[in-house]
Amino acid sequence: MNTSLIKLADKLATTNTLSDEEMTTLLKYRNKEITEYIFSQAIKIKEKFYNKKIFIRGTIELSNYCKNDCYYCGLQRSNRFIARFRLDENDIMKYCLDGYDKGIRTFVLTSGDDYYFTENKVASIISMIKSSFPECSVQLCLGERPASSYKKWFEAGATRYLLWHETANDSHFKKIHPADMSLLKRKQALWQLKETGYQVGSGFMVGTPYQTVADVVEDLAFIKILDPQIVHISPFLPTSHTRFEQERSGNGDMTLYLMGIVRLMLPRVLLTADPALENVMPDARRKSFAAGVNEVFASLAPDEVKNYFNVYNKRHNIKNCSGDDVTRMQKKIEESGNTVAVGTGDYIYAPKEENIYGQVYRIMRP
Ligand code: SF4
Repeated sequence: MNTSLIKLADKLATTNTLSDEEMTTLLKYRNKEITEYIFSQAIKIKEKFYNKKIFIRGTIELSNYCKNDCYYCGLQRSNRFIARFRLDENDIMKYCLDGYDKGIRTFVLTSGDDYYFTENKVASIISMIKSSFPECSVQLCLGERPASSYKKWFEAGATRYLLWHETANDSHFKKIHPADMSLLKRKQALWQLKETGYQVGSGFMVGTPYQTVADVVEDLAFIKILDPQIVHISPFLPTSHTRFEQERSGNGDMTLYLMGIVRLMLPRVLLTADPALENVMPDARRKSFAAGVNEVFASLAPDEVKNYFNVYNKRHNIKNCSGDDVTRMQKKIEESGNTVAVGTGDYIYAPKEENIYGQVYRIMRP
């Protein structure tokens, strides 16, 4: 038994923080024993706040157009080898209705940074969803937008916003993004989202080219400071027609280990399992639940739409990364010994009335 690693895990579980040096040790000397110990603590903490409940969020991919050129992403604007699509409002409402009938109560509108979906257009889609499904919540994943758009969409009824910081280290950010993108702007956008009142989601990929242990420690330190309500960690997957297409995938075991660490760092967080994990290890969902995950995505779109997002390299036998459908996901949750959470989970992070645009939340047990 490596007592020094166990002591670090105990310190993280009781104080929710470690110094950078301590975190580096925990990452560098990862082994089977400490992994199992961290997972056992992560499960205890998750079940203290959420019992065995796992939330399923229904994803609707609005568009795979993007104005950006992130080097790792198959949706980058320079990729001329993928077919592009956009949904119209009728399709969006149809997928919401299908999802609602299957029990989905959170709709995640996601796209590349596609300004075809203007501030007003998105606000009108949110309003339509909220008026048809008033008890449902709308979660956005539409990239970096002006603060005025974040505010307008929040006022239209969206309550959550996902924006991955991707990497908290500036020099690493520059190695995987073009010069017209900025980590500072990304971090500012995350703070603006928090100030607007959203439940904010952030995260990063494991195993991106050039990533070092120090970068991952910085990612965790940034997550600790940002204190997001949702954290999303996924393995890097090499994608066709990108400059990283010949690179290796990120390590699934390390991804799970980091999920466990995040659960110890932010006990009440909504910790998401990305469908990408399925592509680097067998039985990934069940393993992620055992590492402290309590939120998954299920795609509400039919296969022909999902395929537009299926941009990974066939050389790696990559499966669809948009997520399982709702019924399959419900089955996987039940089979893992967990239960499908009912409702949106918004009550977990209900903003204090007097602080609707602030960063302080009243925490309630579901
Ligand atoms: S990661 Fe996001 S912003 Fe970057 S190219 Fe892909 S879809 Fe666009």
